Amino acid sequence: FFFRFSCFIMGFDPTLFVSEPAVEFVCTICSEIFTKPVSCPDGHVFCESCLCEWLKTNKSCPTCRCRLSIKGTSRNRVVEGLINALKVRCEHASKGKRSPSPSGTPRAKRQRTDAGCPWTGTLAELSKHRAECPLEPIPCPAQCGATVKRGDLPAHQRVCPERHVQCKHCKQPVRAAKLATHNAQLCPKAVVTCPNRCGKKCAREKLATHLSAECPLELQDCPFASLGCTVRPPRSRLAQHLQDNAVQHSELTVQQVQASRRDVARLQERAEQLERDLAAEQRLRKAEVAAEAR
Ligand SMILES: [Zn+2]
Ligand SMILES: [Zn+2]
Ligand SMILES: [Zn+2]
Ligand SMILES: [Zn+2]
Ligand SMILES: [Zn+2]
Ligand SMILES: [Zn+2]
Ligand SMILES: [Zn+2]
Repeated sequence: FFFRFSCFIMGFDPTLFVSEPAVEFVCTICSEIFTKPVSCPDGHVFCESCLCEWLKTNKSCPTCRCRLSIKGTSRNRVVEGLINALKVRCEHASKGKRSPSPSGTPRAKRQRTDAGCPWTGTLAELSKHRAECPLEPIPCPAQCGATVKRGDLPAHQRVCPERHVQCKHCKQPVRAAKLATHNAQLCPKAVVTCPNRCGKKCAREKLATHLSAECPLELQDCPFASLGCTVRPPRSRLAQHLQDNAVQHSELTVQQVQASRRDVARLQERAEQLERDLAAEQRLRKAEVAAEAR
């Protein structure tokens, strides 16, 4: 009538201990070694979590059936102290003795998988060891998402995608995973080839100047663009374009001059009209003033 509960802390795995603990240390509820041992008034000992779970649905000691609630139990410091003084292995100790490799496994491979943590100490010292054990898996402190054994961290840090490396062009620290992007898209000192395929190679930061001031293949506005020439010749062919299109360009110029003259004439006409209107207005005023004076 004892249940194995899986949703809460049970006892310590007996295989953790260097020599098999006395049966007195085995919890009759979880069949493991007591964690936080508590006693019924009659002295029966259980893991605190095991007994708590039991008392959720029962009102008596699982062993002696005496009436019992969680308030009626007491912490068993003697048993707790004895268990804390027991010798344990590291959780990452060689699993060889406990679950032997299947026969037929090559010796070399078996030795490698059997290489476990040699640490032993008291149960009380185990949590301190776990915080230092080189075989304890820990998340990479650079938060790359990898979980590595503590002892393998230096090796991992040399290949961790979150590590920073110095860009050989701009000498700035760059995340290793972003180095290719940095070189291909961002680094101001990385050498790029002119996108116009003129053959020029220069630092990315110099490219804008190359394009705006010297690239022979960069397309230019014709100086007659504002007069209506829509051709955009490469810089190297601009002189040729001007030569080849002298007639068209002068036609555009003539059209522009004619249009300007028409504009000027229209404005002149408008100005003269305004002047005439003003003069007529003034004459009318004078006549009115003279009429009133009489
Ligand atoms: Zn238990
Ligand atoms: Zn009891
Ligand atoms: Zn260890
Ligand atoms: Zn990492
Ligand atoms: Zn760079
Ligand atoms: Zn170029
Ligand atoms: Zn032109």
